[in-house]
Amino acid sequence: MDTSQKLISLPDTLRPKDGRFGSGPSKIRKDALDSLAATGSRFLGTSHRKSTVKNQVHRLQNGLSDLFQLPDDWEILLGNGGTTLFWDAASFGLIENRSQHLTFGEFSSKFATVVSDAPHLATPEIIESLPGTHPLSMPSNVDAYALTHNETSTGVMVSPRRPSKDGLVLVDATSAAGAASWESDEVDCYYFAPQKALASDGGLWLAACSPKALERIERLCDGNRWMPASLNLGIALTNSRQHQTYNTPALTTIFLAAEMVDWLNQSGGMAWSEARCRESSSSIYSWAEASEHADPFVKIESQRSSVVCTIDLQGVDADDVSNTLRANGIVDTESYRKLGRNQLRLATFPAIEPTDVVLLCQSIDYIIERLLP
Ligand SMILES: *Cc1c(COP(=O)(O)O)cnc(C)c1O
Repeated sequence: MDTSQKLISLPDTLRPKDGRFGSGPSKIRKDALDSLAATGSRFLGTSHRKSTVKNQVHRLQNGLSDLFQLPDDWEILLGNGGTTLFWDAASFGLIENRSQHLTFGEFSSKFATVVSDAPHLATPEIIESLPGTHPLSMPSNVDAYALTHNETSTGVMVSPRRPSKDGLVLVDATSAAGAASWESDEVDCYYFAPQKALASDGGLWLAACSPKALERIERLCDGNRWMPASLNLGIALTNSRQHQTYNTPALTTIFLAAEMVDWLNQSGGMAWSEARCRESSSSIYSWAEASEHADPFVKIESQRSSVVCTIDLQGVDADDVSNTLRANGIVDTESYRKLGRNQLRLATFPAIEPTDVVLLCQSIDYIIERLLP
């Protein structure tokens, strides 16, 4: 920011109660942190192989099955390393030979790269579209279809759909899980990390798996295909059934995720969460459409994310706006670095109050008016 500029100070009436609008790590509810603190000496610092911790893992697994209304024969797997590690594990334990990938931003491209580089797999089929849009999957001669529920780098959302009755449908739902509904008929493996829509901390991956996905994991991880143990989904499956992870997890991440999932279920489940995110994101898109200086980056309304809103700015430097917001305690509104646009990226995850989102838009207007030449 131009240092000769005087800091623009927001009036108290425009300040959101909570200034965290980042797309991940994202706002963690203070109530969840208070519940964690209240466990005192009874949880953190105790063994992940004993019931105190295993009960929390079980609570998280059950809570997710309820939230997603999973059929009884689905299972929730978990392990360390977040979504990025899960891509590596999936290249061993879920893709048999050849996969199809929809790539339309940073995260969807990364999984495609993992698979392209894997010497034991065939060259994947990649269907690409420009950032700010999404491509569609097509039936093909592959054994796995890789989709992304919400492309966090661009703010594009797409409902997972099974393109063919053959092949597993693997959905990266890192920023959508718990915020946007999906149908278990359309998906075989719905995987994510909990530091985005699930308002927890990072370092963990979770995967809701259909019987077809479980069968694939058990077959590919039977010892015939070499894979490192930490990337072995068969080992993860065995541990998950005992409410454990292969190696030591971050207990905080597990507890906060379980708190969030219970809060969502108690508040009205997926329908409630989805409506709340839609309310927040609609405030932002309507504000941007009405503003002379802002426009939604995603032009096709049906592709606009309900949890990550990307807003192009005109006539004012988006970095100046984000920096001024940050100086006022409103953080992480910067656009995804590699997209390279004059843009704000504003999260509207379920933990974020819709009333705070309205104040955020008013704060941005206040700042833009004062930054204009
Ligand atoms: C954040 C994100 C990832 C990466 O998650 P990590 O837990 O940091 O590995 C992958 N996919 C999507 C869609 C994301 O939003």
